[in-house]
Amino acid sequence: MTEHATQTGGVEERAFQTEVQQVLNLLVHSLYTHSEIFLRELISNASDALDKIHHRALTDKSVVDPGAALEIDLQISKSSKTLTIRDTGIGMTREEVNRNIGTIAHSGSMEFIRQLAQSKDKDKEEQLKLIGQFGVGFYSVFMVADRVVLTTRSADPEAEAVMWESTGDGKYTIAPADKKERGTEVKLYLRSDSEEYLDAHRLESIIRRHSDFVAYPIKVAGKQVNNTSALWTRPRNQVTDEQYNEFYTHLTGDPEAPLAREHIIVDVPIQFYAILFIPRQAPLQWLFTPEPRIAVHLHVRRVFIQDDCKELLPVYLRFVRGVVDCDDLPLNVSRETLQHNPVMNKVRATLVRRVLGMLEDMAKRSEEDYLKFWRAYGMVLKEGIATDFDNKDKLADLLRFHSSLEDDRNAWVSLQTYVDRMQSEQEKIYYLTGESVDAIAQSPLLEPFRKRNLEVLLLDEPVDEWVVNSLQKYGEKEFQAIDAADLDLGTDDVRLEGVEDNKEQTIELVSFLKRQLEDRVSDVKESNRLTESPCVLVTPQGGMSQNMERLLRMSDREFTPTKRVLEINPRHPIIRNLGGMLRRERDSERIRDWANMLVDYVLLGEGTVDDPQRVTRALHSMMQAATQHVAEEEKS
Ligand code: ADP
Repeated sequence: MTEHATQTGGVEERAFQTEVQQVLNLLVHSLYTHSEIFLRELISNASDALDKIHHRALTDKSVVDPGAALEIDLQISKSSKTLTIRDTGIGMTREEVNRNIGTIAHSGSMEFIRQLAQSKDKDKEEQLKLIGQFGVGFYSVFMVADRVVLTTRSADPEAEAVMWESTGDGKYTIAPADKKERGTEVKLYLRSDSEEYLDAHRLESIIRRHSDFVAYPIKVAGKQVNNTSALWTRPRNQVTDEQYNEFYTHLTGDPEAPLAREHIIVDVPIQFYAILFIPRQAPLQWLFTPEPRIAVHLHVRRVFIQDDCKELLPVYLRFVRGVVDCDDLPLNVSRETLQHNPVMNKVRATLVRRVLGMLEDMAKRSEEDYLKFWRAYGMVLKEGIATDFDNKDKLADLLRFHSSLEDDRNAWVSLQTYVDRMQSEQEKIYYLTGESVDAIAQSPLLEPFRKRNLEVLLLDEPVDEWVVNSLQKYGEKEFQAIDAADLDLGTDDVRLEGVEDNKEQTIELVSFLKRQLEDRVSDVKESNRLTESPCVLVTPQGGMSQNMERLLRMSDREFTPTKRVLEINPRHPIIRNLGGMLRRERDSERIRDWANMLVDYVLLGEGTVDDPQRVTRALHSMMQAATQHVAEEEKS
């Protein structure tokens, strides 16, 4: 934790965590023009602290001041130039103050500072967004104050009240305090350029703009400013976009408006309210907290219960943020009793239906918006295909893929689009999997499809395989991998014209390659699907696709991949020449190298060469032969 702690009696002087000081400097110097957000941050913290005590005080009478009114109170002193924000929330113990105020709890804080430093010249909105994402809200007080005193008394009757004080210069002190009431009080000694915050009207207008969703009274010099009915219980037509957005910012810390929102009010069979949001960007926290959470707050009859609730939504919808408030749950619900609660199951089913409906609407309204969603969360939504059987069809309509008919790598097609533009006699939905869209798009396996103008979906993510396997069909059309050995597209019109087969030579070459490559491929065959390429590797019937093997290799290092079938194009000059060479020099070392090179040639294209040394050896001998040839030609 903090580095230089000296303890003298009950008074400690401590240094901020280095990162905190860096954040502070950035805040004070780069976000200066947005200074009013300090108030939103403090009120947001106070509102959270009130949420936390609300539920507990209903049942636990041992907390400090169990009957205290839940409210936020602002006091101005023009003479001492101070603004004090006081709440009757859950408060903090000394240990909590040290942990929460003075360190950045988040493991990603360094990353945050790096990003903030990089975005220096970019607009302020970007920086605000980052600040929200990492929850460094409290430090924004130093944008307007040069001295801050936080006094707090925890709801825990054993804990002593403490006072935290700092001038934002790298150190803070913490000492016992004389505070009788539960809650937290933050006193700001305003800087001379921030005296506007001594004006009650100015404060009221900031509160109305940024904090009108807060369900506890906010008073400025004794006068209540906000509408305390919970935002989600208000009729939809009485809530403005700004109010929804401010509420979203309060919940998530993200100052950017969400991509989509849905306000749900249900009366029968169960009474509940919800406001759901889809953030524009996947939260950075996902990078640091691999355990998926459902970050939707649960309330029961306006009382906050918990801030994440995995019973509310399946994990494949974990990008949804928001709040659910149910009237038909008991106030004493606990994480354990939620698990098999029939009310929760019904709420969850409705929420899933509404979220999927929200996505359908988004896709209908604007494909461009939908693709924003898809790029941010497509990977997550795909998990639903294999886990939510009931909604499989709806989810299939929401999938998007790259396609061989689209050269633009930012273009995506839906399965419906694919089916709509299928050729009249086409029976199947063709796809090819691989390491990257670029690698797949260059696969020789696409040649016969391009020739016939048949569309192939290019699946570059390992889970895609799993998605098509779980779906099996879209409507009436089955999925078909185009690297299957038994795939037959008919042969006639794809051959190189005017080139005669040398049947006998091809048969000899095939049997030579079978022997030479038996460790690497399961069979060698003459291909009837290639035009421009000499050879290709295909998956034998019943064999596992490359992507599936990739997944298995990741989880099992000992995994031995199934061997594929090498198909050669007997009309291709390389193959014809190799056949001729074989007749002249059956036992030469280079012909063995070159046989191997046929396989490596394909692997290189797929981006997965297993033995680069073997490739460089073969290249070495080829270049030597070619340069020798040139040198001899020049001599004669
Ligand atoms: P965030 O609110 O995003 O977590 P802050 O820096 O604003 O980040 O606050 C850090 C933590 O300090 C909060 O998560 C909370 O635990 C605690 N805290 C801040 N203000 C209060 C308050 N008024 N009452 C109780 N705890 C508070």
